[in-house]
Amino acid sequence: MCAGVIVPELVPELQELFDEVVDRNRGEAEFHQAAHEVFESLGRVVAKHPHYLDTEVIRRLCEPERQIIFRVPWTDDAGQVHINRGFRVEFNSALGPFKGGLRFHPSVYLGIVKFLGFEQIFKNALTGLPIGGAKGGSDFDPKGRSDGEVMRFCQSFMTELYRHIGEYTDVPAGDIGVGGREIGYLFGQYKRITNRYESGVLTGKGLHWGGSRVRTEATGYGVVFFVREMLAARGESFEGRRVVVSGSGNVAVYAIEKVQELGGIVVACSDSSGYVFDEAGIDLTLLKEIKEERRGRIADYAAARAGTATLVTGGRIWDVPADIALPCATQNELEAQDARRLIANGCQIVAEGANMPTTPEAIKLLNAGGVAFAPGKAANAGGVATSALEMQQNASRDSWSFEHTEQRLADIMRDIHDRCLHTADEYGVPGDYVAGANIAGFTHVADAMLALGVI
Ligand code: NDP
Repeated sequence: MCAGVIVPELVPELQELFDEVVDRNRGEAEFHQAAHEVFESLGRVVAKHPHYLDTEVIRRLCEPERQIIFRVPWTDDAGQVHINRGFRVEFNSALGPFKGGLRFHPSVYLGIVKFLGFEQIFKNALTGLPIGGAKGGSDFDPKGRSDGEVMRFCQSFMTELYRHIGEYTDVPAGDIGVGGREIGYLFGQYKRITNRYESGVLTGKGLHWGGSRVRTEATGYGVVFFVREMLAARGESFEGRRVVVSGSGNVAVYAIEKVQELGGIVVACSDSSGYVFDEAGIDLTLLKEIKEERRGRIADYAAARAGTATLVTGGRIWDVPADIALPCATQNELEAQDARRLIANGCQIVAEGANMPTTPEAIKLLNAGGVAFAPGKAANAGGVATSALEMQQNASRDSWSFEHTEQRLADIMRDIHDRCLHTADEYGVPGDYVAGANIAGFTHVADAMLALGVI
């Protein structure tokens, strides 16, 4: 667990299981954190349904079905050989083929991949679609690498990964550092090695070679659709709301786009070098040009909008007053001090676009401060849900319109929202989206595991 975290007590049987998870997965702090968060919600479930303990289904859930670690050798433009480490953790396939993204970032190690894979099990279950949970990636840093270097890395990565994936086995997608370019190189190498045009083996593909409309926008749009439901449940809307979005990658950019379409004003966004505050509202056309075309920095945005935007380096984006905060960058980026500042500034809703961006201590503070909090496994499920829609289109060799696909996404996000609230009510914690998401996701996948026998 992170240092200084307030750890709520678990019921003794779950504490014992949690201790075992820590012992069997030493040094994997992020995985421990993700498991603890789910276990906190399960006390109510095992009190009502003790068979989940008797059948050891929770213990089984914490052990991945398969973990693959491999060498990824590649050569840079100067002829220098590099070695990275590749990972694929196939966590759970009770509901369907393993499904989850690939992350290319220097911080990637087994503990990060396992936390993401574990979260993915429950997220995918919450979508109601037939997909299991997995995650993968590499400690490769694509930043500053040429297209040729990224291509050679992706080809080498797939030269090992191809033997473990398939449209009925395991279907990777993108995540941090893996966008359309990387998925293209990965798919090209898969096709070449296997001699199969197996579109359903990867999602996040380009539109003219098997991709789905709305997949690029899906995670960001989905978070905003989820928040729209949270607001509607209070009889409110996005109209005129000030919103802060961390990050400026795939999730952040499309969250900003949908907030603006729904009448909200996004006043700040960031990258790992700092944040920009733009009182007039973020100029999305400019941001997209800098981030998606030039692969530039947030400082370039501030320089181009010198009249209205301020660049802040070394500060915290959560200091900017807002009604709604959407952390869309990375894990543990919203800490206790940030939660206190958001509460003091009157923030009413925090919804996670990224995976586990809010520390456990910050979540407790937000709850205590009356801020409605939506966890990533519910709020950012729109990406994987649209990936499953991409798989449906590939399987039927069909291609849906933007409007139809976006409507499917909006319906799925509304269903997830309602399922969280309904489950929270059923288990005596009304309005608790964390408990609702964990319990609804857990019972769905655990029941499927029990039906399949001890496997
Ligand atoms: P991208 O690589 O497209 O963007 C990540 C963004 O976060 C970049 O702007 C990056 O800045 C910023 N960032 C990374 N680390 C930090 C940091 N320490 N402080 C501030 N900013 C930081 O990734 P995605 O947008 O795809 O993913 C973002 C999050 O959303 C991740 O947690 C991912 O797991 C989650 N997610 C993504 C889904 C998807 O469909 N893409 C689906 C569900 C969840 P810089 O460029 O400087 O590194």
